[in-house]
Amino acid sequence: MSDSGRKCLRCLLRDLAEEDQRDLKKYLDAIRKEDRAPEAVVEKRLEICRGCEKLTEATCEACGCYVEFRAAIKDGRCPKKKWDRGDL
Ligand code: SF4
Repeated sequence: MSDSGRKCLRCLLRDLAEEDQRDLKKYLDAIRKEDRAPEAVVEKRLEICRGCEKLTEATCEACGCYVEFRAAIKDGRCPKKKWDRGDL
C-alpha cells in the first residue's frame, strides 16, 4: 500500500517499498532455471499486466498471485487469457 494508505493500482512489487519485495525475491529464487521464462518474455507479460484492470498492489485479483511471480514461470498463464505461454 502506498504511504497515503491508498491502494496502488497498476503497480508491480518492484514499484513498492523494499520490504514488500522480500517475499517475491524468495519465491523467484525458488524457481528452477529450466522453469523460468526468458527475461524479455517476463517483461512483455508484465507490460500487459500493468495495463490490466485486475492488477492491484502487484497482485492479480483474478488469481491472487503476485504477477511478477506468475509471469516469471515459463509455463505461466494469465487467468484472463491476456497472455499465455504460447503467445510470448
Ligand atoms: S495475470 Fe492477466 S488478469 Fe492478472 S493482472 Fe496480469 S493480465 Fe491481468
